[in-house]
Amino acid sequence: MTVQYGEIFVKSTELTDIVDITPQVMREARKSPVLNGSVTLFVPGSTGALTTIEFESGVVNDLKKAIEKMAPQDIYYQHNERWGDGNGYAHVRAAIFGASLHIPIIERELILGTWQQIVLLDFDNRSRKRRIVVQISGDA
Ligand code: ZN
Repeated sequence: MTVQYGEIFVKSTELTDIVDITPQVMREARKSPVLNGSVTLFVPGSTGALTTIEFESGVVNDLKKAIEKMAPQDIYYQHNERWGDGNGYAHVRAAIFGASLHIPIIERELILGTWQQIVLLDFDNRSRKRRIVVQISGDA
């Protein structure tokens, strides 16, 4: 088994930012020595998350609305009292989605649906430079 470690860097804006990172992940898969296996994506940090979605503005806005209902920004969070950083909602949102994704790779191609893109969800209340770990493992 071969394991390859890579990183993707994304600059996000403040409030809920949803960024398509599919092209960067595809690039990592295509240049990897691994022919068949899988990629594990992980975003270090407790206010970022990863998921897949059809990346078009309608669905992206629908998701933002759903997130706002799930963990509204303007309700009381104990975290804000404790740390004063005002991003309690961001930690809750990130925990609901999770920090990692696992995607199969066949012949250096990601197995994704036609209308399925990989997105970084950045919930923090300030602009961030996010690091996404791309670990590809399998048979060369
Ligand atoms: Zn915080």
